[in-house]
Amino acid sequence: MNLAVLGAQWGDEGKGKIVDLLTPHFDIVARYQGGHNAGHTVYVGGTKFILRLIPSGILHPGIICVIGNGVVVDPQALLSEVDELTRNGIDVDNRIVLSDKAHLILPYHRDLDLLSEARRGERKIGTTSRGIGPAYEDKIARRGIRAGDLADPQALEHDVRDNVTARNRLVQDTTMDWRAVLDQLLSHRIRIRPWVRDVSLMLSDAMRDGKSILFEGAQGTLLDIDHGTYPFVTSSNASIGGVCTGLGVGPRVIGGVLGVAKAYTTRVGEGPLPTELFGEMGNRLRESGHEYGAVTGRPRRCGWYDAVAIRYSVRINGLDALALTKLDVLDGLDRLEICTAYRCEGQMLTDFPSDITRLAACEPVYERMPGWTAPTRGLRRFDDLPEAARRYVARLEEASGVPAAIISTGSARDDTILREDIIAKCKLPILTAPLRTGRPS
Ligand code: GDP
Repeated sequence: MNLAVLGAQWGDEGKGKIVDLLTPHFDIVARYQGGHNAGHTVYVGGTKFILRLIPSGILHPGIICVIGNGVVVDPQALLSEVDELTRNGIDVDNRIVLSDKAHLILPYHRDLDLLSEARRGERKIGTTSRGIGPAYEDKIARRGIRAGDLADPQALEHDVRDNVTARNRLVQDTTMDWRAVLDQLLSHRIRIRPWVRDVSLMLSDAMRDGKSILFEGAQGTLLDIDHGTYPFVTSSNASIGGVCTGLGVGPRVIGGVLGVAKAYTTRVGEGPLPTELFGEMGNRLRESGHEYGAVTGRPRRCGWYDAVAIRYSVRINGLDALALTKLDVLDGLDRLEICTAYRCEGQMLTDFPSDITRLAACEPVYERMPGWTAPTRGLRRFDDLPEAARRYVARLEEASGVPAAIISTGSARDDTILREDIIAKCKLPILTAPLRTGRPS
């Protein structure tokens, strides 16, 4: 049975840790969208790994890691990541598969990203300026260069020349040399080509042979290009639909959907965030949660748990359960708030508005809950949580409409409460193998 693990909020929910934790139950981890703007941070045996493109399953020996056609791939970033993993003792040989249909991010995409943000001025999206958006634009405009194109250097030359010429027409203060772009790509080609395959076929064969897959999402549902808070979104489908389009698999192979959500809310970049906290409490969450971007170092905006947004995420993705992360960050607060509805233009809303202007006008309606003083950090049994923490989780589950099957109480693999009764009740396919933890060999 296969499982999809995706972000239920605005990204940075701690998907990296959850995927890493669940990987031993699967044979393959397959990433379906996004680019190297995602930054999963995983701590294993005290070593910090930041994975941008390669699924975090790579930290477990023997697991095959797939980068699907829905991902946009910067060849330079991919090779740097591979080199860094190798330096840290991770054996990546024969473990990386890259879809022949995955589009490549080339140096001109980065320039176009910066240019488009500069032109937007006040209305900027707050992108990571890594060329992700422009690479997806080229994909939709049918002028993109795909990993499979690395097989044909002549066609590559033609396409690179055309695309760099188009870039030079737009970015007038500097000129890019298409030959330099091509030469660099050709040099990367030698290392990357052996990884390139028909991913849809490979996954289909693997499933026929009884192998199981963990589908890994990047960013979060509220940043989804279609269902997120457009235009302040990422350029791909971070929500469940992205699994099918981004890997070439049918919907029935998805055996369960786990949404990762923090026990509070964060967002990086621009766009509405109804439960945002501006004062001391916002700073407190940011500092205790280390809420700074893994890739850019940008401070994240922080707020209370927003059950309206989570209910929306449950609807869009058909979530079976939540993996609730960073509960420990709330340790020591004397009170907590859960947003259960919005007040908007004199009306009470219980559904997340589809219109972003309306969302921006929404005020959260909070329910106050008592906090707890005893630390939850590192706890592994639900019953060991302070009573107020258990009550907080119970109310949050009720307000969200799904149970929390996993509760994370720290950044390490073992700092986790696995609620086996809920996992079994939700039929999540993660009880078939004992949990392997510890340092990767
Ligand atoms: P992702 O992109 O969704 O994987 O999220 P990030 O990696 O950007 O952010 C998650 C951060 O929170 C990482 O630094 C994790 O190590 C950390 N983290 C994950 N779960 C927990 C938790 O339960 N408690 C604490 N304190 N940190 C956590």
